[in-house]
Amino acid sequence: MKAFTYERADTPAAAAAAAARPGARMIAGGTNLLDLMKLQVETPVHLVDINRLGLDRIEPSENGGLRIGAMVRNSDLAADPRVRRDYAVLSRALLAGASGQLRNKATTGGNLLQRTRCYYFYDTARPCNKRQPGSGCSALQGFNRIHAVLGTSDQCIATHPSDMAVAMRVLDAQVETVVPGGTRRVIPIADFHRLPGNTPHVDTNLQPGEMITGVTLPPPLPGQHVYRKVRDRASYAFALVSVAAIVDAGGGRIRSARMAFGGLAHKPWRVEAAEARLAGTVLDETTVDAAADTVLAGARGFGHNDFKLPLLRRTLQVTINEAARAA
Ligand SMILES: Cc1cc2nc3c(=O)[nH]c(=O)nc-3n(C[C@H](O)[C@H](O)[C@H](O)COP(=O)(O)OP(=O)(O)OC[C@H]3O[C@@H](n4cnc5c(N)ncnc54)[C@H](O)[C@@H]3O)c2cc1C
Ligand code: SF4
Repeated sequence: MKAFTYERADTPAAAAAAAARPGARMIAGGTNLLDLMKLQVETPVHLVDINRLGLDRIEPSENGGLRIGAMVRNSDLAADPRVRRDYAVLSRALLAGASGQLRNKATTGGNLLQRTRCYYFYDTARPCNKRQPGSGCSALQGFNRIHAVLGTSDQCIATHPSDMAVAMRVLDAQVETVVPGGTRRVIPIADFHRLPGNTPHVDTNLQPGEMITGVTLPPPLPGQHVYRKVRDRASYAFALVSVAAIVDAGGGRIRSARMAFGGLAHKPWRVEAAEARLAGTVLDETTVDAAADTVLAGARGFGHNDFKLPLLRRTLQVTINEAARAA
């Protein structure tokens, strides 16, 4: 690990201003950043500790939803009675992620900003456009079993690894931030993460130094909340494919269905047209398969990850059936 200096910020605006300096980074739980520093994938010269800013509360928001402070730990968020009752998809997604010890440290803001788990990104001996722009993408012709099948570019085919973000996408969460000048802004989660395009090193639409202060959830939505994660082992593994769904159904009919997907793309993936195909239909294999067709429009495997296309189809069938049966 390379030497760095350290300060503890007093306010979010001060943290943003300090983090905007060249080579500076904020540190929250440190569960991703420290690993990257040990591997010298990230080499910050200055760390801004944001752990004592009072952003660790979960509170009702003015419109009947919930506001989650950026420093709320993943364990606390998953266990919150309001989250378990009204936003069970979020609680389930959080509990499907990492391990108990990691969730005790990992934060809401840090989880949204964790970096891809592409093996080549972590291997400084191999080309990677995300780590070193212009160096090439080792995954395109390499071992790409965990990689994306939607929204890829010829520069990068990495996936976003967060389970929590997939649930937040199905809930239409909003990310609250403060920019280095002190101004606050709100970014819909749909616009928060970016597709790789020609700039795969830029993961989000945050400005340099911009700090996440919290995330707001809308008022509770009717329906059964399900999070299904397919992974290589039962615990402690990132999603190959995941589905977050909120399904309002009864009497064999689907009134409405919301679905977001993980493990498929560089950002949590949601296709509202697929949800429209399910709304008002009789629940059967054909209707769900038609929705899967819409989700997978334009999907492309890269060899080792071709299995994700049929896997997504089957996972969606099981998820929608599970939710509808529970209704
Ligand atoms: C072994 C292992 C297994 C894991 N498995 C899973 C899994 O299955 N599913 C899953 O979703 N995750 C998994 N994770 C990832 C884990 O959830 C993340 O490491 C964690 O959520 C990151 O949060 P943090 O607070 O520790 O972030 P940090 O490591 O402190 O920060 C991460 C990044 O976010 C920036 N940052 C942090 N907070 C803010 C803020 N408020 N504003 C602006 N920038 C900020 C930091 O500067 C840094 O760049 C796993 C991690 C490990 C090590
Ligand atoms: S997929 Fe993206 S992160 Fe992985 S090697 Fe290619 S450029 Fe790097």
